Amino acid sequence: MIAVTCSPAGPKLDLNYSMPTPAPGEALLRVLLAGICSTDVEVAFRKYKGGFTGVLGHEFVGRIDVLNLKRKKDCGFSIGDRVVSEINIVPSFSKSTNYHQRAQDPDRSVLGLIKRDGVFAEYVCVPIENLHKVPDNIPPEVAVFTEPLAAACQILEQVHIKPTDRLAVLGIGKLGVLICFVLKACGKDVTAISKKGSHFDVLELRDIPTRKVSEAMADMKESFDLVVECTGNAEGFNNALELVKPYGTIVLKTTMAGMTQTNLTAVVVKELTLVGSRCGPFDAALRMLSTRQVVLDDIKKDIYDITAFPSAISRALMAETLKVILRITPTSSN
Ligand SMILES: [Zn+2]
Repeated sequence: MIAVTCSPAGPKLDLNYSMPTPAPGEALLRVLLAGICSTDVEVAFRKYKGGFTGVLGHEFVGRIDVLNLKRKKDCGFSIGDRVVSEINIVPSFSKSTNYHQRAQDPDRSVLGLIKRDGVFAEYVCVPIENLHKVPDNIPPEVAVFTEPLAAACQILEQVHIKPTDRLAVLGIGKLGVLICFVLKACGKDVTAISKKGSHFDVLELRDIPTRKVSEAMADMKESFDLVVECTGNAEGFNNALELVKPYGTIVLKTTMAGMTQTNLTAVVVKELTLVGSRCGPFDAALRMLSTRQVVLDDIKKDIYDITAFPSAISRALMAETLKVILRITPTSSN
């Protein structure tokens, strides 16, 4: 089968990668579309810890081809169902039964990131317990956003946000946009802040106020009860420390791979709370899409055939591109 693999030599399109076989309790999925996210780019070019080798990719929508059931009882899924899959996979002996536990299980593997082939391939195997059915009214081009949208929803799982709170999202890339949409959908007072102003148009269409970092740093210091930090760099984190009010909260939504040194004095002096935030609830994300509380139809997506992967990843490196998607199964059979 066709797959995009990654090794110390970099990412490579492999036309002859061996087909996976589903273990008991797993489903074999035909991948329809897969999204390229910043983490994939970091993994591909060896900037991500761990030095992953295998098939890249973790954001996708697929279709069930084979169900290898452990016991002959209804698993709630049928062949042909359109599904998305949580990315943290635990071994069968694990007692981790929900997404929170799976995300922190010490024995976990992670699709396309840790010890497990990912989804930039025609087929992938995942445990049936990781699957979520995609409601019929969500097209594949929108369903492919479920994983990052779930990550955006995770903030609501972790932090109690009062109706009167003022929120800022700092760093408006792919994830920052989705976080703004989720917070807005929940009726929160959210301002989007970024250096260059990329993607401000899609936010303004949804009445989400936008500010350049230079403007915000001039007149919005200590204005926000909660700042969601999505830049992943020391400058962004330092700005967050200044934008947040005393006793406020900063949610860290990126892995800060490049951040070597920062001064945490402000955390102590302002008595701040820092919250690290990662994978989120898929069911909540799918409900938001299905009920159209979050609408992604008009989001600019660049769709490339998987065989054009080199062009797709170059495109994903450009700041003005909101989302690059790989088409892995031709549209006619979606
Ligand atoms: Zn991702």
